[in-house]
Amino acid sequence: MLEVILFDLDGTLVPMDLDYFTKSYMQALCTKFFDLIPPQKLVHEIWQGTYRIANDLDPGRTNKDVFWEYFLPKFSIDAEILISMFDDFYNQDFAQLKKTTKPNPDARSVIDTLLEKGYRVGIATNPIFPARAIEERLNWVGVADLPYSLVTTYEKMHYCKPHVEYYQEIVEMIDVCPERCLMVGNDVEEGLAARKLGMKTFLVEDCLLNTRNLNIKTDYRGSFAGLVEFIEELP
Ligand SMILES: [Mg+2]
Repeated sequence: MLEVILFDLDGTLVPMDLDYFTKSYMQALCTKFFDLIPPQKLVHEIWQGTYRIANDLDPGRTNKDVFWEYFLPKFSIDAEILISMFDDFYNQDFAQLKKTTKPNPDARSVIDTLLEKGYRVGIATNPIFPARAIEERLNWVGVADLPYSLVTTYEKMHYCKPHVEYYQEIVEMIDVCPERCLMVGNDVEEGLAARKLGMKTFLVEDCLLNTRNLNIKTDYRGSFAGLVEFIEELP
């Protein structure tokens, strides 16, 4: 019996072409920091910092800690100035990236239905972004104000997908057996990792990602419209 439904964001709740989104995100960052940091250097160090977050399995450091410990010393810019400019970016500039995504008119009704049926709902987006950037993306599909049991931000989490530790940390945080969780996502590799822990998975295929061409093993799969039907039929 399911108890918790976890949703990925990019390409799942928020329809997007991830490459286009990422390119536009980097461009927007480069524009923001143009007077301060050469664009090539900025893009390089953001990727390097993200790579470190993605691979760090130290339970004592959050993803945010890992990023800034790497990123800050790369620039001879006052830490407070750099951090406040990033905050400013996520508070103001990040919103323009909505144009790289598509609307999802079913997102809200799907989550509403689950909450009405008594399920707990979590946003299990890869925690490489600050809470503000995640809230903004939730806003784009009109679901930022719903009562989630957990949103995996980079401030809070210590691991990334597809590490099984990421999913382990989620079940500990919200106190649930993995077998009672359904992970809804568009990425084959990330979904497989949830299955390693015993979670059920629903692969949403509208923006399917299978970069390593893995064999697809999932409990359920289909379009987002298929997910809507699946959730309507849940007890
Ligand atoms: Mg995704």
